[in-house]
Amino acid sequence: MKCKKCGREAIVKLRHYNLALCREHFIEFIEGRVEKAIKKFKMFKKSDKVLVAVSGGKDSVSLWHILVKLGYEADGLFIRTGKEGLIKIAERIVEENAKILERKLIKIDATEYFEGLSTGEIAKILRRPVCSICGTVRRYLMNKVAYEEGYDVVVTGHNLSDEATVLFGNILNWQIGYISRQWPYLPKTHEKFVPKAKPLVLNYEEDIRLYARVTGIKFLDTACPFSLDATTTVYKSYLTDMEKKQPGITIRFFTGFLRNKNKTFSAEEEDLKLKECKVCRYPTTEEVCSFCRLRGKVAKVVSKT
Ligand code: AMP
Ligand code: ZN
Ligand code: ZN
Repeated sequence: MKCKKCGREAIVKLRHYNLALCREHFIEFIEGRVEKAIKKFKMFKKSDKVLVAVSGGKDSVSLWHILVKLGYEADGLFIRTGKEGLIKIAERIVEENAKILERKLIKIDATEYFEGLSTGEIAKILRRPVCSICGTVRRYLMNKVAYEEGYDVVVTGHNLSDEATVLFGNILNWQIGYISRQWPYLPKTHEKFVPKAKPLVLNYEEDIRLYARVTGIKFLDTACPFSLDATTTVYKSYLTDMEKKQPGITIRFFTGFLRNKNKTFSAEEEDLKLKECKVCRYPTTEEVCSFCRLRGKVAKVVSKT
């Protein structure tokens, strides 16, 4: 098998693009698709201060490396969602990467906002899924830190497979509101809302895994112990099955959505006006934001015990 670009021995055949590539051209190809996403969705410029939310997993760690290599001013943010176990190992890995990249790493402790409890413990006492607690806590803190530290944009490691899965689930359930708001870049809609971007949105998950392996990037190769919620896992497995039978279906499905979204869904877009949370003054669509409501609930339960 020969590399399509240079004719040397290929290390991989990307079935979804029907493309065989050598190591050098595979690396170039993946990085090129990150740059393409940044430009296509006007995510940020070389002069912008970028904050990468880094979990220690292959996606966000690879993204940080790629952005620095492409010449972006990219610092890292690690959110400690617990005190022990995997999160400690993840933190060490993220620190190692910061050293290798010679970039600043901001670390914050989410448990400080919740009476010292981890997101897992919060989920247990409130009887709610861990993923939804983690999502609320991370989204809020990413925005708060980026705003306070003067970053122009926050980027996360969500890849094509993640985004296609979310879209697939939302279409199966006709969640029009979610569908019309799904986009790889969320612009500034409030003075305290820092834009959010997903530069890996054009890259398959398995390609990022291979990229991390062939470039020797250090990452935590363990799925979150709580993993994705059950339904998301099912939707992801459907997509994986379809992809096996029809290579390229995931990228066609998702890029087709991106091309057609405005024609098809914009009329349905709900008018979500952002106001300021009465408690913390950060943007929200409600009177009190979901983070502050969560804090309130946790404080109440803890005070009773
Ligand atoms: P996940 O929902 O676990 O797939 O994570 C999605 C993205 O959120 C990751 O690619 C990271 O960019 C970010 N992220 C997840 N966990 C953390 C964390 N503990 N600290 C900072 N960023 C995180
Ligand atoms: Zn080649
Ligand atoms: Zn609030």
